[in-house]
Amino acid sequence: MLTGPQKSADLPAASLQCELGRRLEDIRRRIEAAALRSGRDPAGIGLIAVSKTQPAQTIRALAEHGQRDFGENYLQEALPKLAALQDLPLTWHYIGRLQSNKTREVAQWFQWVHTLDRERIARRLNEQRPPWAPPLQVCIQVRLGDESGKGGVTPEALAPLAHSIGELPRLRLRGLMCIPPPHETFEAQQAMFTILAEHRRRLIQQGFELDTLSMGMSADLEAAVAAGATWVRIGSALFGKRKRR
Ligand SMILES: *Cc1c(COP(=O)(O)O)cnc(C)c1O
Repeated sequence: MLTGPQKSADLPAASLQCELGRRLEDIRRRIEAAALRSGRDPAGIGLIAVSKTQPAQTIRALAEHGQRDFGENYLQEALPKLAALQDLPLTWHYIGRLQSNKTREVAQWFQWVHTLDRERIARRLNEQRPPWAPPLQVCIQVRLGDESGKGGVTPEALAPLAHSIGELPRLRLRGLMCIPPPHETFEAQQAMFTILAEHRRRLIQQGFELDTLSMGMSADLEAAVAAGATWVRIGSALFGKRKRR
């Protein structure tokens, strides 16, 4: 674990560069160790650097260490950063709440959406995905417990939404995502993630081709990897603690 992360914006450029490299290395080691402990190939687990509240120059510094996938939660904050970093071969993941008046820009600028939870939003993204772009890669966010305010479909609504998305040619349903309520122990964390893995297994039995489980953050990535995560979404362990918005 990292100790006493400094706010990256307060560090001078060269030491920020070194510090980010160390933290990235540390996260990669955690992912690899967790994968090996559960007999998985570490190559099957992707790392999304969650760069909300981080300036473009910090993202650029991390990209120089080879990080390619970045996650953003707030569209207004993300768009200027995406524009400023267009010279880099980055993949952008939208992981925030989706409002219908924001779908056009999400469909234009992002390659992935992890937080799809309504048919209406899916239809809008499908219509608004530019014709020159490949289909938008999407995950359905599933609510596993009391996540009031966090979004996500109930388990009962999951299969109907998956069927609707399957009809939309400009979206490609890749899998499921969750943000479980925080749990202290590894066992409790793993139990939540295993529920999401079970949901995916059931959809696969129904004929869906789903290769993705987007789950695990700084505090619980080991449990998520043990339960089958294919994307972990890491913010504070890479960039340091966020200021409250
Ligand atoms: C902020 C955020 C993360 C990263 O959380 P950390 O605990 O900082 O690693 C991951 N996923 C989502 C959806 C988030 O909003």
